[in-house]
Amino acid sequence: MHVGIIGGGASGMMAAITAAGAGASVTILESGSVLGKKILSTGNGRCNLTNLSLDPSLYQGSFRRHAAVLLREFGVADTLAFFESIGIPTVEAASARGNDAWVYPACKEAAALRMALALECERLGVVILYDTKVSGLSKQEGSFRILCENGSNIRADRVILSTGGKAFPKSGSDGSGYALAQGFGHGLVTPLPALGALISSHPGCKNLSGIRVDGELSLLVEEEITARERGEIQFTDYGLSGIPVFQLSGRAVRELVAEHRVMLSLDLKPEQSREELFLDLVERKIRREGKESGTLLLGLVPSKMVPVLFKLCGIPLHVPCEEINKDSLLKLAEQLKKLGFEIVDARDFDACQVTSGGIPATEVSLALESIKVKGLYFAGEILDLDGPCGGYNLQWAWSSGHAAGLAAAKEE
Ligand SMILES: Cc1cc2nc3c(=O)[nH]c(=O)nc-3n(C[C@H](O)[C@H](O)[C@H](O)COP(=O)(O)OP(=O)(O)OC[C@H]3O[C@@H](n4cnc5c(N)ncnc54)[C@H](O)[C@@H]3O)c2cc1C
Repeated sequence: MHVGIIGGGASGMMAAITAAGAGASVTILESGSVLGKKILSTGNGRCNLTNLSLDPSLYQGSFRRHAAVLLREFGVADTLAFFESIGIPTVEAASARGNDAWVYPACKEAAALRMALALECERLGVVILYDTKVSGLSKQEGSFRILCENGSNIRADRVILSTGGKAFPKSGSDGSGYALAQGFGHGLVTPLPALGALISSHPGCKNLSGIRVDGELSLLVEEEITARERGEIQFTDYGLSGIPVFQLSGRAVRELVAEHRVMLSLDLKPEQSREELFLDLVERKIRREGKESGTLLLGLVPSKMVPVLFKLCGIPLHVPCEEINKDSLLKLAEQLKKLGFEIVDARDFDACQVTSGGIPATEVSLALESIKVKGLYFAGEILDLDGPCGGYNLQWAWSSGHAAGLAAAKEE
């Protein structure tokens, strides 16, 4: 059995190792000059490869049912055992949210994990064709013909499409795999950027740029709260970034595409009620009598935030604290709990981590075989599934790569 794997990223390498381990002869066709280039950028270069508290219900997209099954067949424990077996022991670290455990290679080097996967492919005799971008795929008389941009063409009994989505195209995933599937009549759930920063029309963003604050973000769609995330929020000159923003971005983008109004509401003091904050402000006002109004929020929020908050509440910056009236203090307490940012767009694929959308689950079996073309399999981000930050997307690459590799290697 000869299995051709188009795309040598995380899922393609896992598929290759599994198929070769099951006895197939395997060729990876990779458009780049290395395998798994994207892995190098994961987890800020440390590679958050999975999550000990992985909750399958947190994935988005039509493959959620497939994911629930495949994550049982090759799940977190199998992934840890696999990496241990190829010389990459792992460690866990509590996430910023503190309620789950993100897993990294013990050496905290994504490059080591990438290299170990590539070496394992080599050890198992996988043929690797670098700088080989696939531009055409057809099936005649029971075998696939894979056409490459460099003019070469390769035959394979089975093919696994693991070309990724459209996110972070500088790592090689430029969306060209979709067209190969579409050539066989496959549909496509519109690919959209996910796990990325969001663009706001709020005039204060430019002034807040560079600030990092801990807080709770609520995603409001048509004024209704639909999701919440806590953690460190970063302000940029175009809007908001940071892990809580990334986690909410996929949903925000889908709502924007549906032409719904999307807002992010920032609670700067989630541990305190509005009433407690108001009393704190009253005390501060008394303590700072005779001092400039700007000193009221000293130590409570980053200093760059003070003019923005004061402007929203109509409080002048250079008057004595005692001139701030009760109504203004109430408004200020309200803003500290609900600082609103209208979201108008998301950063594009160049700047996001994953793609939501892709090949729809209705066209792919539980073994990840196309129901349109026998012998064509899929793995990884090309499929309509995306997860939150925290190792979810790589775990899907490992689980789906394993399933596709195993099924593709099986003799009739
Ligand atoms: C900056 C960043 C940080 C991330 N951090 C994390 C993290 O810490 N944890 C986590 O779980 N996830 C993380 N992710 C997401 C995760 O990296 C991806 O979901 C995962 O790599 C997808 O694997 P894949 O094999 O499906 O696709 P990819 O890894 O994108 O691999 C696809 C491969 O196919 C090749 N290819 C594409 N088209 C062709 C073609 N026509 N012919 C031949 N080859 C082709 C590409 O060159 C590429 O090597 C991060 C992503 C980014 C961008």
